[in-house]
Amino acid sequence: RVKDKWAATRPKYPPTSLALQHFDATYSAQLGQLWPSVRVALLSERKYGALLNNFSHDAVLEDLRAKGCRDFINDTDTVAQPCLEEEPVTGVKEESSDVPGKKSDIDGQQLFPLRLSPHIKCAVFPRGDITRFKPARPDMHKLLGYYLMDAASVLPCLALDVQEGHNVLDLCAAPGGKTLTLLQTQSIRFLCVNDTSVSRTLRLRKVLNSYIPKECLTERNLRITSFDGTKWGEIERETFDRVLVDVPCTTDRHSVIEDDNNIFSKTRTGERRRLPQLQLELLLAGIEAACPGGEIMYSTCTLSQIQNRSVVEQAIHLAQEKHGIRLEVVDLRPLTHMFRKTFHFAPDLHLGEMVIPHLAANFGPIYMCKLRRLT
Ligand code: SAM
Repeated sequence: RVKDKWAATRPKYPPTSLALQHFDATYSAQLGQLWPSVRVALLSERKYGALLNNFSHDAVLEDLRAKGCRDFINDTDTVAQPCLEEEPVTGVKEESSDVPGKKSDIDGQQLFPLRLSPHIKCAVFPRGDITRFKPARPDMHKLLGYYLMDAASVLPCLALDVQEGHNVLDLCAAPGGKTLTLLQTQSIRFLCVNDTSVSRTLRLRKVLNSYIPKECLTERNLRITSFDGTKWGEIERETFDRVLVDVPCTTDRHSVIEDDNNIFSKTRTGERRRLPQLQLELLLAGIEAACPGGEIMYSTCTLSQIQNRSVVEQAIHLAQEKHGIRLEVVDLRPLTHMFRKTFHFAPDLHLGEMVIPHLAANFGPIYMCKLRRLT
């Protein structure tokens, strides 16, 4: 009986099937021969990383190492490989232009080491090892030892390059994995954490309380709000040294696996179609909120060029046209070069970098593009 009723109310095309149909049409064109393997990985069990909580008193990393994990950031066998000078590429990288820093220029350029926060640590099991992490345990102060998240989500925070004394804005922060990562740097003077959803902001508060000591979560160093981030430029302009704009997107992995709360459900078609506009408005607001010389990281967890590259291109153009703000794209190849043994990066992206899912390293998708305000 129950089964009959379930069959009668089940949509003919569940959102996961609609998502897969949509991705087959768009990503086979976008990724070409890479798409079939990325598709298999997207449909397979994802891999997690354990973001180490520096505020915990337990020897968590040693325990995880004993289980076969390594901190992919600091235990890496590629230890801070020499890399390209961070030469700015003004505006948008062109495939065949002669701008300095373009991807094909990788050989023959001056090499410099990469600057990363030494405090961000993330443990992963080796390539091809799909062991699952156990839930984190609380220490004697009830702080959890690690936070499980897609290890590739750590990269935008690492690449944001938070420095001592910085004021930082996390514009779309809930449930808080990247906020926690940024806080691990222990360098931030003031952190502004925002998410328009009140319920998700509550979740984020709970996450912070489970990982960060109370004395570090005071009004002097932290503000948590639930504003519409697109309006941030009207509230606080030219204020932050670093801005993370981790926008809502089609969350490709969730969309092909889970029918619940799926952006491809018929009732959410309008919301899904409006995503690129919302993403653009959020990125523009983040750009306005950054101070001249400040840096903005745009990130998503979709493979979609329309939500990634096109949004960044339009934002660069509109920031100049509407607000007179000039931006440069920061070359993230040093970072992808350093972590090439942990993640699979999309080749020839022209603007930003993207971790693509792979069966042996099933992280991502994570897209990131870093901008620096010149004016
Ligand atoms: N950064 C988060 C993390 O690492 O845990 C994930 C952020 S999630 C990809 C995108 C978030 O954007 C959602 O929590 C959603 O509620 C929020 N959001 C959607 N529209 C927004 C808006 N107009 N202003 C601010 N946040 C928004």
